[in-house]
Amino acid sequence: MKSIPTPAPRPYRLSNPIQPYAWGTRGDEAFIPRLLGIPAEVGTPYAELWMGAHPKAPSQIILERESFNLNAVIQAYPVEILGEAVAAQFGAALPFLFKVLSAGEPLSIQVHPNKAQAEMLHARDPEHYPDDNHKPEAAVALDSLTALVGFKAFPELVQTLTALPELATFLGEEVVRNLTEAGSLTEVDQRTRLQELYTTLNIRAQKTPEALEAALGNLTTRLSEQSHPTQAEQVFLKARAKYGADVGLFSIFLLNLVQLRQGEAIYTTAGVPHAYLEGNIVECMANSDNVVRAGLTPKYRDVETLTTLLTYEMGFPPVLSGAPDAGEIIYETPAKEFRMHWGKRRAGEELHQKTWARPQIVLVTAGTLQFLWPDGSETLTRGQSVLIPACLPAVATRALTACEFFRVTVPQ
Ligand SMILES: [Zn+2]
Repeated sequence: MKSIPTPAPRPYRLSNPIQPYAWGTRGDEAFIPRLLGIPAEVGTPYAELWMGAHPKAPSQIILERESFNLNAVIQAYPVEILGEAVAAQFGAALPFLFKVLSAGEPLSIQVHPNKAQAEMLHARDPEHYPDDNHKPEAAVALDSLTALVGFKAFPELVQTLTALPELATFLGEEVVRNLTEAGSLTEVDQRTRLQELYTTLNIRAQKTPEALEAALGNLTTRLSEQSHPTQAEQVFLKARAKYGADVGLFSIFLLNLVQLRQGEAIYTTAGVPHAYLEGNIVECMANSDNVVRAGLTPKYRDVETLTTLLTYEMGFPPVLSGAPDAGEIIYETPAKEFRMHWGKRRAGEELHQKTWARPQIVLVTAGTLQFLWPDGSETLTRGQSVLIPACLPAVATRALTACEFFRVTVPQ
């Protein structure tokens, strides 16, 4: 193996891998090629751009004219890149993974394990659970985002069962009665009833696929005949045409349909079911790729794990608008691994920032931003990104035009 030169205290440009997952935007619609200023190849879905050091697809940096995987550089020089405190807390790995995500079609409905569950799953089944880490995630809409996040509030779930007799019939009388006659239940009991519903739904779907197909078929016929379908019904009909007899189609009515505008964010923690349906976002998460799928996917599903990982909390998720601070909007979340900032600068604005001996990744999303440090400068245009290592004590930025960027760091 070639030896890795010591990183210097300066920003390093990142070269980032693109993930061609099938749900990504394509052709003229493809957002990631437009952001990067590259042509979109015909037939290729451009789903995710990964900025970070995940072993599955690490970014690359140039040290003394040679390209190295960022995870290898961090393993060799944890203190230089991460700083003492972050290296002590998280080991020799970047704690976060930063992404641009562009969904032309729904992603699978999914849930992520908490740290203890992730360790257990990874030890038991490393093929399907590649990381021993949890995956709290925050998504900020670059233009807009439509997503399913978390179970609806209990009264709404009861309404859903009344409005969808096809689902009620499929679940069976007992489950429906337990839910609809549960008026004065405590929150804990409501969760137990929801768990019963969701577990029954998934197990029946697996055991009696013909009954699932019949229920979905009946619902499709009824909804297709409606003249003014709701947004959830439109999502259902579109997904039904693509996925056929997929139990996740019922989840479209059990989960909250969330619509984010530019700059709005949602934070999703362990045990909360979610699916991004459409839109372009920046997303930051703990450095993990652990996913348990609940539907809208032809991929591997683990129903037993799924139904035990869910926390069955109910209600509409908080939409974060972020808090303004020194020319940036900061999205505070409980995640210890990352904090996202959205910066906007007028042409000519200059700012000096301390790095607090913590690593940062900055992605410019509009305009031109120059980074200056004692012995050099680097100019970034739209789509370009840098790693600022912890060993650089401070960095100055100058907006050469009006510009916007996203910055991710590890909170103190
Ligand atoms: Zn997720």
